[in-house]
Amino acid sequence: MRIAIAGFMHESNTFAAAPTTLDQFHILRGEEVVSHYRPTFHEIAGYIKGADDYDFELHPLIGADATPGGPLTRATYETLVGELLDNLRTALPQIDGLLLALHGAMVAEDFPQADGETVRRVREVVGPDFPLFVTHDYHGNVPSQLVQDASVLIIYKTCPHIDQPERGLQAAELLVRTIRGEVKPVCAIAKPDVLFNIAFHNTSRGPMQTLMDAAIALEQQPGILAVSIAAGYQYADVPAMGPCIVVVADGDADLARRECDRLGQMMWDVREQLIPQIPDAATAVQMAMRSTETPVALFELGDNIGGGSAGDATIILEQLLAQKADGWVAAIYDPESVQACFQAGIGATVSLQVGGKVDAIHGPTLSITGRVRTLSDGKFEEPERRHGGRRYHDQGLTAVIEVNRDAPGKGGLLLLDSERMPPMSVHQLTSAGIVPQHQRILVVKGAVAPRAAYEPVSQRIIEVDTAGATSISIPPADYHLARKNLYEWTRRS
Ligand SMILES: [Zn+2]
Repeated sequence: MRIAIAGFMHESNTFAAAPTTLDQFHILRGEEVVSHYRPTFHEIAGYIKGADDYDFELHPLIGADATPGGPLTRATYETLVGELLDNLRTALPQIDGLLLALHGAMVAEDFPQADGETVRRVREVVGPDFPLFVTHDYHGNVPSQLVQDASVLIIYKTCPHIDQPERGLQAAELLVRTIRGEVKPVCAIAKPDVLFNIAFHNTSRGPMQTLMDAAIALEQQPGILAVSIAAGYQYADVPAMGPCIVVVADGDADLARRECDRLGQMMWDVREQLIPQIPDAATAVQMAMRSTETPVALFELGDNIGGGSAGDATIILEQLLAQKADGWVAAIYDPESVQACFQAGIGATVSLQVGGKVDAIHGPTLSITGRVRTLSDGKFEEPERRHGGRRYHDQGLTAVIEVNRDAPGKGGLLLLDSERMPPMSVHQLTSAGIVPQHQRILVVKGAVAPRAAYEPVSQRIIEVDTAGATSISIPPADYHLARKNLYEWTRRS
């Protein structure tokens, strides 16, 4: 048995200013796909383990991904999907199935639901009966058509996403059983009319934990092969924006439909619990300064880099400076300031214009003077299982400056990097000489995903409602393609 594997993944934020272009993609070809992903905690690592566990040969087509950001340009999309399809056409006579890792929230110019378009084109190439198994991120906005074009869709069950290898392996096992004729998967999808705000995406608490427990229990029932819930991605203005439930049954379409609708009703029934109440930056900084449990991690929701925002928001930093907080650490994407620090050298005092440069919605550019403490190449490794499953990271040239540090523990440490780096690993800090456990306040630009990295080093996490491309309260009027009847929006109006 020979199985093709491929990944083409991007979470595209339609509220982000800059488009995503080909040069931002990390592209792997041929055996590189296997050697890169094997030591990671990505679902493609699960596909690869499937080859060992279920005895099939791997035929890698392509692996392409980029840091979340604005929608792909048309040329970027066509180039990458074109390479995927060309390689697939060549491989087709030798392969028995395809495992395809798509994010589920890719937007391309002209194709708002780009992953749906990709699956449509793949189906066109492989024909109606070919086993085409797709895996998605939990933040997918899944159009109903996608589960008709795919043979099976399986979605991560955790946020932070720490079960990717298991989902990849699950897809591989089910694919093998399907090819052997042991099962006949049929899919159903339900899309309840709720905006499942990212403030509630944590699968270890609240309404989503209850829903996911129900999905996991259903998956154990006879006749059911897989059950998934996507929470959706509210930062892509597309018709399918919002959560969904996908049930895969063995040959029984009515069973799939019935159970899918039952979980859909459960989700609708928790809608009153999905109204966010989260402090603003001024309040959250006060709470952190008063906290007796430290460090306190302040999660800056409006600049959720892993959700595609600018990475240079200054909204919480401005409050830390205004309220004269001590013992803080903040990371800001600012290649220009990094260059100035490298020119000045370690120990020098620098006066910088920091952050707020990518666009006009992530706070002002701040004038900051400090002493250069460390300079580094920004490369680090995360050996533990963390959100996204990535092992090797590169935040580009990195500088740390001490701000208002007139005595040990006073003022703060500002890490400046040259790439937009989602805070999925504390080694972003430790590799630059910062020990997070020794600080009082950690500013973390994310919503739920960084919990896998920051819960072990924080005593308390406070989510902070800030402006930005990943604000949790973008008004419905700013959406043009999304359905307007989503609860939270209809409740507010
Ligand atoms: Zn995600």
